[in-house]
Amino acid sequence: MIINKKSFPSILTVCAMTCALMVGVWFLLSNTVDKVVEKEARTTAIHWADYFVSHLDDIETLITKGIPDPKQSATIDKAVEFGEVFRFKIFRPDGTNSFISDEYKQKQDEESLIVENKKAARVFNTGNSNIEIKDGRQKANRPDVYVEAYVPIEDKSGTRIGVVEVYIDQTEMVASLKDGFNWIALFLPIISALFFLIPALALLKESASAKEAKAEAEQLANFDSLTGLNNRRSFNDSAESYFKDYSSIGTLFIDVDNFKKINDENGHDGGDAFLRSVGHTIKSKLGENAIFARFGGDEFVACIGDVTPEELKIIAQDILASIAKGMIHRGQEIKGHVSIGLNISKSNEPLTDMLHAADAALYKSKSEGKNTITIFSDALSNEFKRQQKIEKLLNKAVDGTGLEIYYQPINQPETKKILGFEALLRLRDKQGEMISPEEFIPVAERLGLINDIGQWVLGEAVKTAKEWSNETFISVNLSSVQFDQGDLPDFINGLLVKHNFPAERLEVEITESLLIRDDGSTQKQLAAIKSMGVSIAMDDFGTGYSSLGYLWKYGFDKLKVDRSFLLGYDQDPKKLEKVIGSIIHLGHCIDMNVTIEGVESDAHISFLKGMNCDQLQGYYFGKPMTQANAEHMMKAA
Ligand code: C2E
Ligand code: CA
Ligand code: CA
Repeated sequence: MIINKKSFPSILTVCAMTCALMVGVWFLLSNTVDKVVEKEARTTAIHWADYFVSHLDDIETLITKGIPDPKQSATIDKAVEFGEVFRFKIFRPDGTNSFISDEYKQKQDEESLIVENKKAARVFNTGNSNIEIKDGRQKANRPDVYVEAYVPIEDKSGTRIGVVEVYIDQTEMVASLKDGFNWIALFLPIISALFFLIPALALLKESASAKEAKAEAEQLANFDSLTGLNNRRSFNDSAESYFKDYSSIGTLFIDVDNFKKINDENGHDGGDAFLRSVGHTIKSKLGENAIFARFGGDEFVACIGDVTPEELKIIAQDILASIAKGMIHRGQEIKGHVSIGLNISKSNEPLTDMLHAADAALYKSKSEGKNTITIFSDALSNEFKRQQKIEKLLNKAVDGTGLEIYYQPINQPETKKILGFEALLRLRDKQGEMISPEEFIPVAERLGLINDIGQWVLGEAVKTAKEWSNETFISVNLSSVQFDQGDLPDFINGLLVKHNFPAERLEVEITESLLIRDDGSTQKQLAAIKSMGVSIAMDDFGTGYSSLGYLWKYGFDKLKVDRSFLLGYDQDPKKLEKVIGSIIHLGHCIDMNVTIEGVESDAHISFLKGMNCDQLQGYYFGKPMTQANAEHMMKAA
């Protein structure tokens, strides 16, 4: 049941209702006693009058003259003993009194006689009895409670002949009635109160659980369920009023480094414990004056009012050092560290700007090797603005908008014939400026856009190459992120089928970084792609581990020797000759073609002559160019 404030009567209302009920019951019962006494008196009086009339011979004479004969006196004596009647008076049809059963007549004053006479005359005339309950406590020779009942007297034929006023002692009856009613008057409200109070208490209980549910909902809405810390929402809600008390705000953006690894190594339970520990360590270092929240995942944000850059840095260092100490969870040590971005702004700046700046500094900490602190600066600001610009462009570019593919020829060393083209992606900004893939590909990877973009490149490259002469191959660079979902072979296969493109004319280039993090899935996918007939090239060979083991294990078709080798040509050509010669020899030993990248000059060409490499690529043959220029180059050759 959902109880809202409006539908729920407060306990005060319930108490007021119960009190009103008790007063009401009391009032009702008091009235009821009077009514019962009156009813009882009326019945007694009428019965008595009936009895009197039926047992008294010649009542007409008694009414008229007022003097009973001896027989009548005996009946009168009997009647007075009957039904608590302690006195009666007989009146004539005009209301005058003719007889009183005791000596009371002498004590009556003029005034009360007139009242009595009037009442008797009225009862005679109307035929309606008149019953009055009297309090006799202050009067001599009267019971505490008695009734004066004027009842018309009728003869045996039903003709009204006079009025009898009967005095009935009701003290005992009233006492017993009141006694009974007192109990009822006491218990009825109690029972009624219980009747109300029980549901009221139930309602109160429900109200308490409704309050609890509300508190729980608030807890969920404002607090992070894992750490119990404030969440992003409550942080945002409280920020504005918090900022009002300060002139400057220091922001800390804290992110756990390699959290996925911590989770993988210690299980989710361990990962959760680590996040809780990080959250509470940060909180303990911030002091009372800060606002702090878990922003989600492994991100935490704090703002501190009027803090100097030095103080902010000391706090950040303290946090970094404390977290790096690690923690113990279920007897196991969990090690991990965080990166921190710091920023100080004027307190009237928008929160989003403060957070962006601290986030930019954090980004820098991450790119500089993690477990570090970076303070936001103007230089970083430019870098950050550029990042944001690229992010914006990329978000729009997912369907290809703003993206272009350039093509760089790959040539035969002796004949210089074009063997194929490498597809190289370009991002163009609104002003027409080209942004290098070395700059925007990592951003696309970080934003999770590289899959869509990578698929777009593959599709465009295949479509373009389909129009070329049958021998020319097209080589496409793949990001390691494109292997994460495991559906890359299917996508490539679908593309080949759709465009009826010979698999042998497609080449994919990957780098060593993909293989280092392989859990078996990459190897499977590469094998699947290779089995279609697509050629697989190891790109930028010589820049990383240059592991021969990898080359062997993954069965590459081609080795692309990074252009950094040829950059060293001028320093020591002899040594370079040996190094490149060895790589070519090694490649051939394990059935790989070898491509030398970065061929820029005639000197490079003569140097490489006779080295038995398979393909050459570089500015000497052509810079990456538009599709039209590439096609023009092919025709001209
Ligand atoms: P990469 O695969 O090593 O591509 C070769 C890069 O070297 C290209 O830079 C090319 O312009 C440059 N280059 C080629 N010959 C010469 C030369 O003789 N001298 C000099 N100085 N440079 C030369 P670009 O186009 O800026 O591409 C940079 C990197 O971006 C590529 O390196 C590749 O790793 C990545 N990339 C390009 N397109 C894509 C793509 O579609 N997907 C992915 N994942 N990465 C891409
Ligand atoms: Ca490449
Ligand atoms: Ca390369």
